[in-house]
Amino acid sequence: MKTLVFLEHHGDELTKSSLGVLAKATQLGGEVAGVVCGSSVEGAAAKAAGAARVFVADDPRLEAPLPQPRVDVLAGLVRAEAFDNVLFAASVLAADVASGLAARLDAGLNWDLVDVAERDGGLVGTRPALGDSVYVEVGWKQTPRLALFRAGSFEPAAEGAAPELVAVPVELEEHSLRTAMVEQAHEEQSGPSIEDADIVVAGGRGLGGPDGFGVVEELARALGGAVGATRAVVDAGWYPYSAQVGQTGKTVSPKLYVACGISGAIQHKVGMQSSGTIVAINKDANAPIFEFADLGVVGDLHQILPRLAELVRQAKS
Ligand SMILES: Cc1cc2nc3c(=O)[nH]c(=O)nc-3n(C[C@H](O)[C@H](O)[C@H](O)COP(=O)(O)OP(=O)(O)OC[C@H]3O[C@@H](n4cnc5c(N)ncnc54)[C@H](O)[C@@H]3O)c2cc1C
Repeated sequence: MKTLVFLEHHGDELTKSSLGVLAKATQLGGEVAGVVCGSSVEGAAAKAAGAARVFVADDPRLEAPLPQPRVDVLAGLVRAEAFDNVLFAASVLAADVASGLAARLDAGLNWDLVDVAERDGGLVGTRPALGDSVYVEVGWKQTPRLALFRAGSFEPAAEGAAPELVAVPVELEEHSLRTAMVEQAHEEQSGPSIEDADIVVAGGRGLGGPDGFGVVEELARALGGAVGATRAVVDAGWYPYSAQVGQTGKTVSPKLYVACGISGAIQHKVGMQSSGTIVAINKDANAPIFEFADLGVVGDLHQILPRLAELVRQAKS
């Protein structure tokens, strides 16, 4: 079985989610290769430890994160190398590339997967359904099989041999170059992103208003973590959408998740339930979050969080 993993990069770094999918692909066995598309991306490609080969499509026309030129590169590779599987970690770009590639190759794409396994020489994917209350198995009728995995579904491998880098000729369709990136803006961020952080401190409606995030940020800073939020508070404009954790937000799996004033609705739970240790602070002892938290603190977060941040700072100094 030959598997190709689409490796997305930000600057010189491959994303944690795509490295996680690469680690899963190597567990499936067979021949595993990666592909990195961009401009001056050899440095990033070399970091794909575990892949036997990484195809590098290096071209200034691939600098902007636009899908169609990447579909051209991947379609050429899949045809030339006869890959059986093409795996993606979900992102806005990866979803566009995966769907464009499915259309181009007339291939089947299963999306929103959280797992995949080899069975009888083929693959079986696992996908949450019915509001994430059940898992269903999904398959493919033919090769190449395309799969898009929820971000954070797999951990990257701790180590692995450096890959052989293989330059691929970049031949782009005329229609793929009709879209141009007009402007790119990067959100100013200090500290780790919520997908990459080992510790996430998340706030919900219990914070009482946008100012309530001050104490959440304070605790996150003290712990060296990132700030997450529920949909209720991002919809209310208390915190940016980029911090939303859950079914319609991001999936995170930090070592420690501190949920502050969060009730624990199923749509939030599915985005953080694979965290190592879940600590919940809620004034309602019957809040659903206590059903799946490892440690529960019943009390007013406005009193608890500042003290907790202070204790963390003291312990660290
Ligand atoms: C299709 C769909 C998709 C959705 N996707 C998402 C998603 O991706 N992510 C997401 O989070 N939600 C999502 N939701 C919304 C979800 O159902 C919940 O409404 C939401 O998660 C609730 O947010 P919350 O916990 O902040 O608010 P609430 O449910 O209102 O909970 C607030 C909690 O704060 C506690 N509290 C209040 N004051 C204090 C205090 N002073 N100290 C301590 N505790 C206090 C309360 O006891 C309560 O438990 C989705 C819903 C739908 C229908």
